[in-house]
Amino acid sequence: MNTHEKLRGKVFDVRRFSTHDGGGIRTTIFLKGCPLRCVWCQNPEGLSLKSQLIYLENQCIHCGRCTTVCKNHAITLQEGKLCIDKGAADDWEEAIDSCPAACLTMDSKSYTVEELVKLTVRDAAFFRHGGGITLSGGEPLFQKDFAIALLKAFKEEGIHTAIETSCYVEQNVVKDALLYLDLIYVDFKVFDKNKHKEWIGFTNDKIKENIRFILESNKKDQVIIRTPLIPTMTADKENISAIGKFITSIYPEVKYELLNYNPLAKAKYNLVEREYCFAENPRMYTEDEMNEFRQAARNVGVKHLIIEV
Ligand code: SF4
Ligand code: SF4
Repeated sequence: MNTHEKLRGKVFDVRRFSTHDGGGIRTTIFLKGCPLRCVWCQNPEGLSLKSQLIYLENQCIHCGRCTTVCKNHAITLQEGKLCIDKGAADDWEEAIDSCPAACLTMDSKSYTVEELVKLTVRDAAFFRHGGGITLSGGEPLFQKDFAIALLKAFKEEGIHTAIETSCYVEQNVVKDALLYLDLIYVDFKVFDKNKHKEWIGFTNDKIKENIRFILESNKKDQVIIRTPLIPTMTADKENISAIGKFITSIYPEVKYELLNYNPLAKAKYNLVEREYCFAENPRMYTEDEMNEFRQAARNVGVKHLIIEV
């Protein structure tokens, strides 16, 4: 038996023909679970490792079929409104199958390494010009054994591999993953450790140590450090300067990218019953504003700013 045949991973999305998250055409695999809790998280459906039921209320015709098959009476119709006690059942299969309007679904699927490789290699012809696969999340290294086995299997197929990681993992996990990675995006969101704790839930010592480790490794030229610009939080010239100084002090040729704020995440929060950090959603930054943030990084010695057009 192959060593990774027994491993299963939870995946909440497989996006084919993506032109972001690395060069060329890529398949991005979103692994579930993240130890951090950024208050602006762009993929809140990826935070919990536990599979959760998703109810698309605007598609529901209130026929009541799901209420009759659901175990533990976890779904009831009350005054014409469907009420779901998501903690009351683990197996939603019958309820999902009973719905004629396809408004019940699970937020993730379980795969073996082989299943995901098979699903992906059918697009390998499109990966030729710098494309490949990208592991994203959640934090893809949270399911560490599965993620590393997956990267190894893709390398064995000759496929270019990238990852988007917060680096909030043990250093030996980073070390093992690096063996099978061609491109490493590391999010470094907040330099100040107290603010990091306030907005992300933990201090950033582990992240700083792992960034140092990667930027001192033989993969340092394949690394892009990224800061997502979140209004009133990370989008602050002092924060950008501090991050810029830190990363250039380790490796002066480091590549750095500032990501514009993405207002689309807010819409996902209703589905997962979490509260978004902004009651009033801010807008994206203009190109002039982005250039001002970039200048703050240049002023402290960042030479290689990645600018996606
Ligand atoms: S079976 Fe589907 S459409 Fe009918 S009440 Fe349940 S969720 Fe709504
Ligand atoms: S590290 Fe990424 S997935 Fe985890 S909470 Fe932050 S934004 Fe969300």
